[in-house]
Amino acid sequence: ATLPEPLASQNDPSHAAHPSPLWHAFADMSKVPETRVVLERGQGVWIWDTEGRRYLDSTAGLWYCALGWGREELAEAAAAQMRKLATYSTFGDMTTNTTLELAERVASLSPMPNTAVFLTSGGSESIDTAAKIVRRYWNVLGRPEKRVIVSRGMAYHGIAGFGTSIAGIPANREGYGPLIEDVHVVAADSTQELEKLFAERGHEIAAFFGEPVRGAGGVYPPVAGYWPEVERLCRQYDVLLVCDEVITGFGRLGAWFGSAHYGIQPDIITGAKAVTSGYQPLGVVLCNERVQEPFYSGKAGVLRHGYTYSGHATACAVGLRNLEIMETERVLERGAEAAKAMVELFEPLRRHSMVKQVRTEGLLAGIEICEDARKRVPNVVDQVLWQARKNEVMTRNMLGHSLQFSPAFIITQEELRFYVERMLTSLDAVAARIA
Ligand code: PLP
Repeated sequence: ATLPEPLASQNDPSHAAHPSPLWHAFADMSKVPETRVVLERGQGVWIWDTEGRRYLDSTAGLWYCALGWGREELAEAAAAQMRKLATYSTFGDMTTNTTLELAERVASLSPMPNTAVFLTSGGSESIDTAAKIVRRYWNVLGRPEKRVIVSRGMAYHGIAGFGTSIAGIPANREGYGPLIEDVHVVAADSTQELEKLFAERGHEIAAFFGEPVRGAGGVYPPVAGYWPEVERLCRQYDVLLVCDEVITGFGRLGAWFGSAHYGIQPDIITGAKAVTSGYQPLGVVLCNERVQEPFYSGKAGVLRHGYTYSGHATACAVGLRNLEIMETERVLERGAEAAKAMVELFEPLRRHSMVKQVRTEGLLAGIEICEDARKRVPNVVDQVLWQARKNEVMTRNMLGHSLQFSPAFIITQEELRFYVERMLTSLDAVAARIA
């Protein structure tokens, strides 16, 4: 297959230099107008800006666009649902068939038997939901002292109340005054530290929250054997295990869930992003039989929690169609094949003088820029990113040290080669400039 032709070859970052009322997320608004890109359309792994410039979308938006852009079927699923009934509140005893079907479909993919599915509009809401469920769970069981939530260093769990409070990225917690209490961050890969903590304070610990692969912190796969040992410790000390699969859920590591990939069965899984490939905002909280029991048996009464858009029918319709296409078009298998090719094709990136390390797992990579360059040029990762844009690759700076690679699962080998070639050119250009 031939690659689509670029519509224009030069990216002049000044083209979008105008102020606007839009306050960008995670951005320094004094600088955004200098480099802003305004995007307009997408097809497969390619996106185009309003000036007609083309980019290979190497991050699938913010990790979510598993299917790739421009899928008519998803637009049609949304339109069809909107024409019937856009959505209806799922508070109390109401819902739609579409919402019921999405929950059933998601439960059928879960690594836990008889999963219950609570619906939200995204990852942060899913994390807050999971945190509230685990605290309520122990409260209802007559153990209100078990309320500490343990998370890992450099973990990202979204930016709502609980997610901000348990953030392992310290900068994401700073400056907000007192956050939610009874949280504890442990070193990311140390099961010894976890065991010590559980042995001392297990009676106060409600749950351990962890991403199967730490994502936004820089793409750090776990050390070998980490997850089965964490699962064992959680069982031994009666701590609920919550896998935050907002990035790894729905196929990123080749299995439907990262927990299945690592051979573990958590008590709760949070998900979002790829469940709709990002075409609609939707989040899920999967709860095993143990966790749902007090709430499903009547013991716990009403869980006074939920969002206006919990179970939004149009988002669910898009999720259903997305998951169906993933199955019929073998999208997970294709992602796994792309992941295998990626490891090999990334060898020249690994060897580049500007690169310290390339970490990969499934169809995820973190390309870490060498420390020397980062010391000499504080915004060197942005320099590479801007250079990559000129070379038709859209990438993302993770915490000033690494570049994110998390493309659509349908990326071809030719597109992977395009990415590597253009990243090498971009790294060369920045290396020459700072030499
Ligand atoms: N948890 C993880 C592991 C994430 O990567 C993210 C977002 O990237 C979130 C939670 C928050 O999700 P959202 O941005 O949809 O609120």
